Amino acid sequence: MENIYDIIIIGGGPSGLAAGLYAGRARAKTLIIEKGNIGGLITSTHEIENYPGGLKGDSGSSLTERMRQQVEEFGVKIVFDEIVSFDISGSVKELKSHNASYKAKAIIIASGAWPRFIGCKGELEHVGMGVSYCATCDGSFFTGLEVYVVGGGDAALEEGIYLTKFAEKVSIIHRRDAFRAAKSIVEKAEKNDKIHFIMDSIVEEIKGNGAVDEIVVKNIKTGEVVSHKADPEAGMMGVFIYAGYLPNSQIWENTLKMDSRGYIITDMEMKTNVPGLFAAGDIREKTLRQVATAVSDGAVAAVAASAYVDDLE
Ligand code: NAP
Repeated sequence: MENIYDIIIIGGGPSGLAAGLYAGRARAKTLIIEKGNIGGLITSTHEIENYPGGLKGDSGSSLTERMRQQVEEFGVKIVFDEIVSFDISGSVKELKSHNASYKAKAIIIASGAWPRFIGCKGELEHVGMGVSYCATCDGSFFTGLEVYVVGGGDAALEEGIYLTKFAEKVSIIHRRDAFRAAKSIVEKAEKNDKIHFIMDSIVEEIKGNGAVDEIVVKNIKTGEVVSHKADPEAGMMGVFIYAGYLPNSQIWENTLKMDSRGYIITDMEMKTNVPGLFAAGDIREKTLRQVATAVSDGAVAAVAASAYVDDLE
């Protein structure tokens, strides 16, 4: 007999896991399809201070690992695969990966967002060789070295502070003279002796022969261009980029309503413009992207999707 799920959730981050929990508890036959790692983007956060009731010292990984266990206790299946296309013309919707096909009566899109590149010369060539988008993953490689953090939001400042555990010196390069990050985080960074600020500036080029050993930074107010070179003995330095995120919504582009940046537009029940398709978490157009709001979206989407499936029967 054909395996048709009640609900398929694309994405195993906090919103997808919360949707799985609620769908599982509603006794819906549920599958989560995750293309990378369970927990999603939040697993690159070393400490989560603002998830209500979270344990002190919780990392993104430890928090989402508990969520995964909870989801599996309710019988939700998790597979690792990447959805690349779909057929939603019938009442049973089909999702296709390169090698498999998955069918469900309702779909919750919770595939999140991914780091935005700054687009300077040398950035992509040096990913994994000094350029990183994840301090938790790569910070320790720069123990005793100099690192540069690009961006002025919560992530840049928080991860900059985290990197001082390893790096000799952390310079935060921001393109404006005021930070977007919360004041409390900015104050914490300002009090840290290892942190330096390079304001009104952009990275023009990242250079290196193998590992990154130089970045060229331009002050956009004065036009001054400064070349920052790695200590000759160390021969390398790190560049951590936190320039915001872009939604993983490309495959839905001509099907679902989106805002100008590609975030999927939903109503309060997480319904998209296509019946049976719901969106939750960072991929959705909203004002606050946090674990707390992601799990809320996931719960609402699962309840709405379960009701949609019940109405079909
Ligand atoms: P963000 O708030 O969108 O900040 C991105 C930063 O990168 C901005 O300062 C932006 O500059 C800069 N930027 C963008 N494009 C750039 C480019 N091409 N070159 C140089 N700089 C560029 O992103 P985020 O810090 O990753 O945070 C994303 C969301 O997660 C936010 O809602 C944030 O509140 C949340 N978050 C929360 C926490 C927390 O509460 N603990 C921690 C991390 C993230 P401008 O300011 O000039 O636009």
